[in-house]
Amino acid sequence: MNLQALIEDIRQQVLPFYDQGRVADYIPALASVAPHQFGLAICTLDGEHYACGDAATPFSIQSISKAFMLALTLQAEGETLWRHVGKEPSGNPFNSLVQLEYEHGIPRNPFINAGALVVTDRAIRHFGAAHGRLLDWLRAESGAPRLSANEQIAASEREHGDRNAALAHFMKSYGNLDHPVEQVLDQYFHNCSIEMSCSQLARAALFLANHGLSPNTAQQYLSRSQAKQVNAVMLTCGTYDAAGEFAYRVGLPVKSGVGGGLLAVIPGKMSIAAWSPQLDRRGNSVLGLEALDRFTTRTGLSIF
Ligand code: GLU
Repeated sequence: MNLQALIEDIRQQVLPFYDQGRVADYIPALASVAPHQFGLAICTLDGEHYACGDAATPFSIQSISKAFMLALTLQAEGETLWRHVGKEPSGNPFNSLVQLEYEHGIPRNPFINAGALVVTDRAIRHFGAAHGRLLDWLRAESGAPRLSANEQIAASEREHGDRNAALAHFMKSYGNLDHPVEQVLDQYFHNCSIEMSCSQLARAALFLANHGLSPNTAQQYLSRSQAKQVNAVMLTCGTYDAAGEFAYRVGLPVKSGVGGGLLAVIPGKMSIAAWSPQLDRRGNSVLGLEALDRFTTRTGLSIF
């Protein structure tokens, strides 16, 4: 199969979907991104790399950082992490407060904001500077030593972060946050503000396709079983309220972010990153979903 020709063709097919979604604007610094951009990149476990469109353009990875932070924290903490955060889909918006009250401050999963705040709190316990640890790890795995957070976006998130602050305070009142709310929020916002391209993201995610072992650095970050856990939670909780639609149309573990990125894993084979900033009403990239749907449909490469 000629994957390069395939992704070029998919790009042509999805470009007409421009303007069917909107760039996220609840974080004002994200709203200024040029809307008509689309990139797609694939890294295979055989060492092949395919890319098209704006695959080399850095964008705000936002919630895709949650998948990497989860993996690093799971590596450091092991099973007991799941006492602090669940692994069930929430069925609620990613920044919802209501469920937390019913469930005594234990977030449903690590990919809603409350869950990611708890994971960040645990990461601070293990690494001190959780954001620094994530950044160093991403730099090594993506082969891009100059990756960093966009300070302007981090500041914008902080300025408009009342809801995340509410989630954090609420969980602290239940004893499910060890560190000061301000510290956890600062690390979390910086993680979300990291900028990476599709090509860099796909490369950094290869360990998830390779049962926890990175082909980039030869490090075994997760056990086979833990890599399965992260992929499973991506499949069931990684795309906000659209995990059912993604499972149905794409059939892969995927993590999305409001910057318009989608990171997908084909266990045993490859990782794929798609990006286009216009989002559908559930917060997922319109062109990104169209592209992943076409990719798995035309190649037959899905986990189902
Ligand atoms: N930094 C964003 C927030 O906390 C992340 C949202 C997302 O990508 O899901 O609201």
